[in-house]
Amino acid sequence: MGLFDSLFGKKMQCPSCGAEGAKQLGERILCPNPACPYFDVSLGRKGTSLPSRGNFSPVRPLDIRYKNFQGVDRRFTADASTAQRRKNHIVVQVTPTGERISLARERIQNLDEIEAALPERVERGQDWPTPRERQVLAYHKQHKTTSPLYEKVRAKYPDW
Ligand SMILES: [Zn+2]
Repeated sequence: MGLFDSLFGKKMQCPSCGAEGAKQLGERILCPNPACPYFDVSLGRKGTSLPSRGNFSPVRPLDIRYKNFQGVDRRFTADASTAQRRKNHIVVQVTPTGERISLARERIQNLDEIEAALPERVERGQDWPTPRERQVLAYHKQHKTTSPLYEKVRAKYPDW
């Protein structure tokens, strides 16, 4: 694995879409996200489309109309309950495999509908948590631990 890494560059976050597992090869960025302009098939996937078989069934099905960087219209059936906004992208699990993909918001054709379907993470009119609060929320959620500070922040943002 070490040799592979040194030949093919370090794994990193894609600078365009934020996907994990992107690589830099000299000037080139190779990204594993099929919806990303830097998408490269060498990163694990065979072919440029999503797998056609799988048994992921969305809790809240959501139809996403998307125009990719080549101007090609794509449709995804996503699970709205898994959707998250990440800066200028929406990250969501899609059928048929439940794979998590990252879609640029400006290329989503029915963005209003998609944003309306995102799980409400803050009360209407409530401020977004500070970076520090988000860090606390994410840390304890991931490690399934708690702390007095976490309890306090969690009480403010029960749906985060
Ligand atoms: Zn990318």
